[in-house]
Formats: sequence, C-alpha cells, structure tokens
Amino acid sequence: MAPEALVCKECESRYPLEASYVCERCFGPLEVSYDFLDLDPGEARRKIQAGSRGIWRYADFLPFAERPRDPLEPGLTPLVRAERLAERLGIGELWVKNDAANPTHSFKDRVVAIALAKARELGFQTVACASTGNLANAVAAHAAAAGLSSYVFVPVDLEEQKLLATGVYGTRLVGVHGTYDDVNRLCTQLCETRPWAFVNVNLRPYYSEGSKTLAYETVEQLGWSLPDRVVCPIASGSLFTKIAKGLDQWIDLGLVEGELPAFNGAQAAGCNPVATAFAEGWDVCKPQRPETIAKSLAIGDPADGVYALDLARRTGGAIDSVSDDEIRDGIRVLAETTGIFTETAGGVTIAVLAKLAERGDIDPSERVVGYITGEGLKTLDATRESFRMFEIEPTLEAFEAELEPVATR
Ligand SMILES: *Cc1c(COP(=O)(O)O)cnc(C)c1O
Ligand SMILES: [Zn+2]
Repeated sequence: MAPEALVCKECESRYPLEASYVCERCFGPLEVSYDFLDLDPGEARRKIQAGSRGIWRYADFLPFAERPRDPLEPGLTPLVRAERLAERLGIGELWVKNDAANPTHSFKDRVVAIALAKARELGFQTVACASTGNLANAVAAHAAAAGLSSYVFVPVDLEEQKLLATGVYGTRLVGVHGTYDDVNRLCTQLCETRPWAFVNVNLRPYYSEGSKTLAYETVEQLGWSLPDRVVCPIASGSLFTKIAKGLDQWIDLGLVEGELPAFNGAQAAGCNPVATAFAEGWDVCKPQRPETIAKSLAIGDPADGVYALDLARRTGGAIDSVSDDEIRDGIRVLAETTGIFTETAGGVTIAVLAKLAERGDIDPSERVVGYITGEGLKTLDATRESFRMFEIEPTLEAFEAELEPVATR
C-alpha cells in the first residue's frame, strides 16, 4: 500500500514521484496513483480512527511512504448539521463543513501541508506559490513552521487582511500588478529557472491530493456514509475534483458504500468561466478577466475546469454562479443561522445552495453537504454596511430612546 507513480490524466503515461506536473508526451496534468492491492477496508478504518486528530490520520491515502512530521497539522474541522439554515433555504438535510477552522483559517492548509511535506522529502529549501490569498497565508505559515524560506506571489489588490496575515510570517511577499492568471504565468516561468518548490506548480500533483482529506472527513463524520449532494466553490477546480477523487477511492476500496454524490460547483458571477461553459454546453472554459468580491475564487483560466465540467455532468450536478450581492447575503444568512462567519468563497457556496433550493433541484430526502472553505475575518469589507450599529451616550435614557422602540417593534 503506497503511492506508486505520477500518471498523466490524459494519456496515462507514468513518471517517477518527483517535482513534475505536466506530461512530456501530451502536456496533460499529472496525478498521483497508488497501489492499494493489499488494503483491508476494516483494518484501514481502524487505523484511521486510531490516528492523529487531523489530516495525517489518512496518511495511507496520501503520497508518502512514511507519515511526515507536521507541526501545524490541519484538518478534522467541524461538520455541523445546519437545521436553521436548512429551514431558511428550504432544504431537508443540510450539513456545513467548516474548513475555516484550520491553522490559517482556510482549506488551503490541507493542500499546503501535503506539498510542504513533499518539498522537504525532495530536499527543497525554498517553497513558493501563486496565490489568490489563502494559499499565500498557508504557505507563509507552514514554511515558517518547517523552517523553510518562502516566496509568495499574489495580485497586489488583494484584501488587506490576507496580505497582513501573510506578511507576519516573515515570507517574501510579492504583490504583482495583474490578475491571478498573470501571477500564475510569472510563477510558471520562475519555476523553470529557480530551484524552488512551487506548491501549486511543480508540486501541484501532491498539493491537490490534500483536498481529498475533505472527502475522507466528510465520510467519517457522517458515520462512514456518503452525502447525496455536495456544493463546493470552484477557483481552479482542484478542490471540487479532488473531493470526488477521495470519495471514489474509498468507494472502490470498500471503505464506504454507495455512489458518488451529485457535484454542484459554485462560482461568482464576476468570474464564472466554469459555470458559463456548463451553461453553454462547452467542453472547455473560455478565459475571463475577474471582477468580483470573491477574490479567493478569482481564477479566470482554471487549470482543472474541464475536469470540473465533466464531474458535474456525470454526477447529475451543475455549476452555478451568483452575484456579489447574493454572496453578501450568503455570508449573512450563514452567520445568522449557524454562528459561522465565512469569507466570500463560503458566501458563494451558500448563495448557490439557496439558488438550487429555489430552483427545486434538491429533493427533500437528500443529504446535502456545503463546503465553507475560509474565514470571514479575511474579507471584512464584504460585511461592511450589511447591518446597523446603535450608538448611544452612556445613560439609561439614551438606551431607552434608541433601543426601546426597536425592542417593542
Ligand atoms: C483556493 C480556494 C478555493 C478553491 O480553490 P481551487 O483552486 O478550486 O481548488 C475555495 N475556497 C477558498 C476560500 C479558497 O481559498
Ligand atoms: Zn500524457
């Protein structure tokens, strides 16, 4: 039972488990493949349950021969039954996976933990990334924890909260005048000439394996069963497709019984290349120039867009997009009904859930899981002016004059 090779997703050519990401024959993306021949599902479950309180409990399904040391282990975030939210949206059974509850407050801790462990194993001293914000936070923090030096490249117009929460770790923070797609192009060029581990370029096949742990946790937290439908935000499409890979693996290996759920992807209308391709019936995505408050999802040319399209289509799901105002409403309704404060990406998830419910796409008997991938404190501007603060002098009269009319209304 071990990771075997990197395999091309298109032509199935095989490569050694090194820092490479693209097929030399057909330029397709590479993915980690495993040998699970001697896996006993009962034994595998027991081992998981006796494991650590984070993603490394799933070490047998991750691309390492030995479980690495990880001082900032992410994972095992809460999966909460959201009854009041379900009622507000008109959904039968709704669960919210709160992945803001990670060391740097987004799901990116999962992918970075895997990529950095691999970077260390391969002997890199410097790690780097092209980021829409959360990846920068996570790379800076996990590099600091591991004693590696780091470069993080972001669009210069990111939310201030994300820049501050990255710079603090002593990384070399580089703000690029351009979109994420410009940043990514620059990083791909740098990757050719620098001996650095770019977590989402030359280590992308390992990085993306980290997202499978969200699938594993969902199954385990649902008592070793599957949801009927998942709703998940899409930037590059990696998270969306890797949740499916994780579920598929466990179904194949007999760790859980059933079929792949319907996969619903969620994008912002201001950057919806995958939702547009879905609606138009295209097989590929047409690149866009992003203009949305959901900056963490603002990838105009998504690397895994075609695979996301295929996944939504073959599971009876869909890919929808929502306006910035709907995103703000999504943030509010989640906070009001669950006590969970999400960043704009989670607002996208909730707004798409609301849209699916309204459209009648969700059967009342379905068990639905929505993925909240980041923390609200990272995108505070999205909540500005969404509520009123009462301001009074420190007297009883002032309180009664201002608040009593409200209380009796
Ligand atoms: C990166 C990110 C995603 C999804 O990213 P993919 O590139 O599609 O894997 C979703 N939500 C948040 C908050 C993110 O930072
Ligand atoms: Zn190939």
